[in-house]
Amino acid sequence: MIYDDNNIFAKILREEIPCKKIYEDEYILSFYDINPQKKIHALVIPKGKFIDLDDFAKKATDQEIAGLIRGINKVATKLDISMDNGKGYRALANIGEFGGQEVPHLHFHLFGGEKIGKMVH
Ligand code: 5GP
Repeated sequence: MIYDDNNIFAKILREEIPCKKIYEDEYILSFYDINPQKKIHALVIPKGKFIDLDDFAKKATDQEIAGLIRGINKVATKLDISMDNGKGYRALANIGEFGGQEVPHLHFHLFGGEKIGKMVH
């Protein structure tokens, strides 16, 4: 599969469409989900062109992988949901058709601010 430059998160990264930004650094951008499923529903995306977690695992540099994982913790800390200053959260990545992925740019959902409940419905 080839990365689609016109997916919605690529457009957000190019600032062609707006987002409610939470955090940004060299490796990641984080913003609120447009259709929140929980009290807090943030998205964390790598800045590189990666379709999904499998693509990322194969092609990302070690720095990009560390940047994304550390970035998730930075966002969670900023939102006061991390284990340092909050009560925890769920980080979730949907991968491909069976995983329920709709936007073909790797993203982690961070759900928090309340008990998240069952893992899989
Ligand atoms: P997926 O199903 O691919 O894991 O999740 C895609 C997520 O992107 C959904 O939760 C959806 O609400 C969110 N989303 C889709 N379009 C936009 C958008 O234009 N802006 C923002 N902030 N979120 C979006």
